Amino acid sequence: MFGSRGDGGEETVVCIACGDRLPRSDAREYDKQGDRWSRHGKEFEYLCVDCHDDLCHQPRDELEQLATDVEQSVENATSETFARAFQREAADRADADQDRR
Ligand SMILES: [Zn+2]
Repeated sequence: MFGSRGDGGEETVVCIACGDRLPRSDAREYDKQGDRWSRHGKEFEYLCVDCHDDLCHQPRDELEQLATDVEQSVENATSETFARAFQREAADRADADQDRR
């Protein structure tokens, strides 16, 4: 998006897991395709340090599938929209996991 540079402050990003806004320099880059090296034409998601640590305890494959699913369901979403959809979907799946037990 052009012309949305803010007021000259530091660029901020939204943690997809908890929806917090934080300085980009404090965030962990999260590539839902698991391939950080082909950056062309891609947008990265971001996680705050807390969530990044939490999510690393979860099976990564499942998380990437989740993020990809969410992205497809919310095309052209803003970071905030994506974060909300991601949290909702993650909560749904957590519930489904518990039902299976
Ligand atoms: Zn977070």
